[in-house]
Amino acid sequence: MILVTGGAGFIGANFILDWLAEEGEPVLNLDKLTYAGNRENLAGVADDPRYRFVHGDIGDAELVAGLLARHRPRAVINFAAESHVDRSIHGPAAFIETNVAGTSRLLEVVRDYWGGLPLTPGPSPVGRGEFRFLHISTDEVYGSLAPAEPPFTENHPYQPNSPYSASKAASDHLVRAWHHTYGLPVLTTNCSNNYGPYQFPEKLIPLVIHNALAGQPLPIYGDGLQVRDWLYVGDHCRAIRRVLQAGRVGEVYNVGGHNELTNLQVVEAICALLDELRPRADGRSYSAQMTHVPDRPGHDRRYAIDAGKIERELGWKPAESFATGIRKTVQWYLDHQGWVDNVTSGAYREWVDRNYQERA
Ligand code: NAD
Repeated sequence: MILVTGGAGFIGANFILDWLAEEGEPVLNLDKLTYAGNRENLAGVADDPRYRFVHGDIGDAELVAGLLARHRPRAVINFAAESHVDRSIHGPAAFIETNVAGTSRLLEVVRDYWGGLPLTPGPSPVGRGEFRFLHISTDEVYGSLAPAEPPFTENHPYQPNSPYSASKAASDHLVRAWHHTYGLPVLTTNCSNNYGPYQFPEKLIPLVIHNALAGQPLPIYGDGLQVRDWLYVGDHCRAIRRVLQAGRVGEVYNVGGHNELTNLQVVEAICALLDELRPRADGRSYSAQMTHVPDRPGHDRRYAIDAGKIERELGWKPAESFATGIRKTVQWYLDHQGWVDNVTSGAYREWVDRNYQERA
């Protein structure tokens, strides 16, 4: 069994679905169900005997200790986090609480559990030697790149610029320290911007698809020339499975899609796909809905990942180009309007109105 935290969110849910399909090993999902957690993402496995959900906080030491003692997972994969940069600008406290304090409490409980495991697997299915703590992090910890600078390697200095990236950087440092100080067998992955099914529509790609279909403005921050490296979530899930299987303990692996694009290019690609797959009634392009809004404060200009280490050492490569991944993604949102409708009501609406309309 593995314990996944934050598995009701975007990447965690994709990971659990992928894991059960590909590995078949039971999964325990611990999730606080913040606004970003959605059990509907896992409706397809809700009755699967290999899947179990627990509603709770990674920072609840008593709860996590009980789960570890009872279920004896061979690995913990930590996706749980506050993950949205804009929200971190409006309210950093929740980011410090979960990403920093929550991760530190989780590490302490996991250390205690790991220390109590037998030295070798022996008759017990879980031994100290095979246990892994895999921490999921972001390329945003490395800061912003100038146009001609080479992509981030694992040795790039940490220069986080937003409350979100600073809180993730802090969590990465804690994970590193728990390895160096206590010997906890950790692995860390730092990945670029993910996209794909089940992404909460506050993030660029699902927001643009949703707003386009709803006849609303497609907000472009500033000049729209910020560069991101886009990674299809299915490729990311495969990378995580590979790192868990063969990654060297204590190492960091950057995961990226080799798809550096400006935000403007991403929005234009989505508009072109929607023009083809669901043309507007008036025959005009969805790009007519594009609206420039004031830039995000401190907006990083460019992120790019050098994924050479995971490619060389673990033989992982992204399977999707942006063209194939974005087509699958747009089609998924078109085919899952019920899911979109369910997550775009109530609190979501208020957030989008506050964040985008007040800037327009
Ligand atoms: P998400 O916001 O969609 O999901 C986060 C999940 O964590 C939600 O289900 C939420 O309920 C849960 N959660 C939040 N606080 C919790 C707590 N205290 N205890 C237990 N559960 C809690 O995020 P995501 O996009 O799926 O990202 C997952 C991880 O990947 C995060 O650590 C994020 O920093 C990292 N990451 C994401 C991206 C991306 O493009 N989405 C890129 C790089 C790294």
